[in-house]
Amino acid sequence: QRAALAGRIDALMRTVPDYPEPGVLFRDIMPLLADAGAFAEVVGALAADAPGPIDLVAGMEARGFLLAAPVATALGAGVVPVRKAGKLPGPVASQTYALEYGTAAVEVQPFTIPDGARVLVVDDVLATGGTAAATVELLESCGATVVGLSFLVELEALGGRAQLPGRFVDALLTIA
Ligand code: AMP
Repeated sequence: QRAALAGRIDALMRTVPDYPEPGVLFRDIMPLLADAGAFAEVVGALAADAPGPIDLVAGMEARGFLLAAPVATALGAGVVPVRKAGKLPGPVASQTYALEYGTAAVEVQPFTIPDGARVLVVDDVLATGGTAAATVELLESCGATVVGLSFLVELEALGGRAQLPGRFVDALLTIA
């Protein structure tokens, strides 16, 4: 059943060379989100894989939002959007991280995260893991307990999992 779901994701995802920049092989999940049956199936699988009770689901801007919200309702949890810098009215907590060239930052509103809240982090693609690692650090600096991270697709060759040592990391489809 897991293999069938992975196959369905693989079949519906587009792989777009040189987007958004030359050399990037972009994994486009939009056709999967547009397929009612496949969308429901991936949301159900992400929720079913959650490691124990979840208080909040954190989704990364922007495609992570589309997954975090239905996964949260499936789990009876709330949602925390993890936004790029400058998008949320303050007070915000901010975590910067290194990009290939320069730095970026992720932000949340800390007053939406109760101390000790059990948080599941959800995004579409795990690539280098920089965004995910910064998100974990950010949420835990706000007092959350990040119990796991779930992705539709893991791009194994980019080594993202190594940025998340000791963490529960789930991927519905792993691409070597
Ligand atoms: P990273 O921090 O390198 O793991 O990148 C993760 C973020 O960038 C996620 O929010 C992904 O949505 C996006 N991303 C990175 N690489 C790709 C890719 N090849 N295809 C689609 N999205 C990607």
